[in-house]
Parts: sequence; structure tokens; C-alpha cells
Amino acid sequence: MINLVLFGPPGAGKGTQSEKLIAKYGFVHISTGDLFRWHTKNDTALGKKVKEIMNSGALVPDEITIAMLKEELDKNPQAKGFLFDGFPRTVPQAEALDQFMKDNGSAIHFVIALDVPEAEVRARIAKRRTMENRADDEEEKLNKRITEYFTKTIHVLPYYQNQNRLHTVQGIGRIEEIFENIGKIIDRNSTTGYPK
Ligand code: AMP
Repeated sequence: MINLVLFGPPGAGKGTQSEKLIAKYGFVHISTGDLFRWHTKNDTALGKKVKEIMNSGALVPDEITIAMLKEELDKNPQAKGFLFDGFPRTVPQAEALDQFMKDNGSAIHFVIALDVPEAEVRARIAKRRTMENRADDEEEKLNKRITEYFTKTIHVLPYYQNQNRLHTVQGIGRIEEIFENIGKIIDRNSTTGYPK
């Protein structure tokens, strides 16, 4: 059983690669962005709390994000392997995640970071905005989201690198090729077997 984090800036292809990884390996997918969007769409108490923050493109405070993540983990006690997408985005989130996994007798085995330069990310998000009409991808939020990544989230990488848990994959190129490169890392590092 392995648990991993798929890491990268907005528009790096985390969603696309996650879908393919779930289909192949049977991970339980936890995307904090999807969870927050579900809450805002369904107008829950949490949704009301985070709506404006999300609409501004800023990060939701750690306390709220970590509590939601914990709730999601508790809903899946039988999961054979988690794929975290969009979490952690700060070092306190990474530390909380390690603690939660440890409490369950498990661990985050490694992190795969999709490496995509800022200019490419901006071009991709602009394209996605026209295709999906995602509220949080509106022009005025784009700068903020990318800034949040390159000023805050990027600091999570040394946290994992210092513990030899970080693997970087070139995030530019054919989707299939990127997927193969991610798969090679998983296969090489899965001494304990796949989730399914
Ligand atoms: P995403 O779809 O992962 O880009 O997330 C959409 C938005 O949800 C982000 O711009 C943040 O406002 C919020 N969000 C998602 N995940 C996190 C996280 N781990 N920490 C803080 N805010 C988050």
C-alpha cells in the first residue's frame, strides 16, 4: 500500500494525471480544491466560510483546510492508498498530514511534483478558463493563485526533499508520456505493493 501526494502549480495537470492514476492503481483521491468546491456549491457552513477566500484566489487558512482533510480521511478508514491532490500547500499542512497518516499506522511514502514553468501554467489556465468556465479561474484571480503557489506552496518541496521523499516529473509534453514517467516512479518505489 502506498500513499502519495501529486504536487504542482494550478494548471500543471494534476487533475488529469490523478484520474489516470486512480484508474490504474485504485487510489482513493482526495482533492481539497474539489472538496471546497463541493461545499461552496452546496452552500454548507464551511462553503459559506471559504467562498470569498476561494473567489479571491487566496489559500484557505490551514486550520480550516486541515480540519476538512481530517474529516475526509476519517470517512475512508478502509482505503488502501491515498492520492492527495492540492494538499498539502503549506508546511503546517504537510506536517499535519504526516501526523494523521502516522496516527493510522501509515505514511506519505512519496511526493511527485509536476514541474511546469510559470508561463506555461498561465497559458494553460487561460485556456481552461474558456473551456470550463471555472469561477476561481477568472482573470483577476489567476495572478493571485499563481502567486500563492510560487510564494507559499513551493516551500513545501524542501520539506519533502530533505526527507528524500520528493520526485520531480517534467510536466510538459504528451499526457501519456507524463503519466508513464509518474508510473515509473510509483513502480520503482512501491516495495510494499499497489493499493489494489
Ligand atoms: P485547486 O482546485 O486545488 O486549485 O483549489 C481551488 C482553491 O481551493 C484554491 O485556490 C484555494 O482557495 C482552495 N484550496 C484548495 N486546496 C487548498 C489547500 N490545501 N490549502 C488552502 N487552500 C486550498
